[in-house]
Amino acid sequence: MASKFVDLHCHSTASDGTFKPAEVVRLAVENDLSALALTDHDTIAGVAEAAEEAGRVGLDFLPGIEISAEYPQPGTMHLLGYGIDPQSPTLRDLTKTLLAGRDNRNPKIIAKLQQLGVSITMKEVEAEAGGKVIGRPHIAAILMRKGYVQSIKQAFEKYLAPGGAAYFDKERLDPAQAISLIRESGGLPVLAHPIQLRYQNDGQLEREVKDLVDLGLAGIEVIHSDHGAQLVEKYTAIAKRYGLLKTGGSDFHGTNKTRISLGIANGTRVPREWFDELVDRCAAKKS
Ligand code: AMP
Ligand code: MN
Ligand code: MN
Ligand code: MN
Repeated sequence: MASKFVDLHCHSTASDGTFKPAEVVRLAVENDLSALALTDHDTIAGVAEAAEEAGRVGLDFLPGIEISAEYPQPGTMHLLGYGIDPQSPTLRDLTKTLLAGRDNRNPKIIAKLQQLGVSITMKEVEAEAGGKVIGRPHIAAILMRKGYVQSIKQAFEKYLAPGGAAYFDKERLDPAQAISLIRESGGLPVLAHPIQLRYQNDGQLEREVKDLVDLGLAGIEVIHSDHGAQLVEKYTAIAKRYGLLKTGGSDFHGTNKTRISLGIANGTRVPREWFDELVDRCAAKKS
């Protein structure tokens, strides 16, 4: 019988995960999932390989992407885009813009680290990433390997996170742009891990969600590795109130986030029906 569980949020080597797209797919099967969405940061470069392997091993698959939107600190707003058309010209422009934001930021981080006496070069970082999407976790991995920090987490605390000695932000799209560009790329926009908005109270959360719904938000990530049972309940109620799709995933990054296993988000599994509803809604959008 097909597994009742899925994972709709994970990363591969196409962004800051440590498993290749095909390896993530095989791991999904090993972890008893029946469907997967790959949601690398700012790119769908891993989607073709994952889709091909999924076809080979009989796993249902949906292409995805994760985009960081402008949002006041200390919060972060990430939007997932599901079912985007890989051929979409809007998507091509979108990913170009997002990568330019990274290309402007990453050398600033490296220059600052060098000033602080850290031995690290952009070349090493590029080699670590092995592709176009270069993120702070790649820098963190080098800092750890060279013994400047004991863990990825510590690399963020000491250097790479806001307040860290080598922190620089990247240019982002505002939420309205991100949502409309995901839609124009054929995808459905979903608010990722709402807890990371770091809202002050439920009223602020409601207002943020309502604003996003007015901009075209289609869903909310209810199950996530950062969400305990109470948050899952809260976000389920919000999804219901605003007629939003519910999604969920582990946010698996391989060994860049060692405490997360593919298919399990804070002890919770994501029901298969959520994948089916998402796929149905993607198909309805296209027809
Ligand atoms: P970037 O996309 O280059 O801005 O880097 C952001 C990525 O770094 C996120 O997607 C996470 O994978 C990771 N990350 C962010 N904050 C932390 C943290 N405090 N500890 C470990 N990883 C983090
Ligand atoms: Mn990441
Ligand atoms: Mn995220
Ligand atoms: Mn993610």
